[in-house]
Amino acid sequence: MGKINKEWHLKHKMPKNPTQEERIKWHIEHSKHCSCRAMPAKLAEEIKKSGIK
Ligand SMILES: [Zn+2]
Repeated sequence: MGKINKEWHLKHKMPKNPTQEERIKWHIEHSKHCSCRAMPAKLAEEIKKSGIK
């Protein structure tokens, strides 16, 4: 487990029923600012497929 960026989490809550796009965007931002948990492998795959940077 990495270190949690509490401040970032408070400002960036995951929507209650996120769309795939929202989840992807959230995780991309999350990975830039916080390392409390890794991006799910499945989601990382989706990102690769969709070509989102
Ligand atoms: Zn985090």
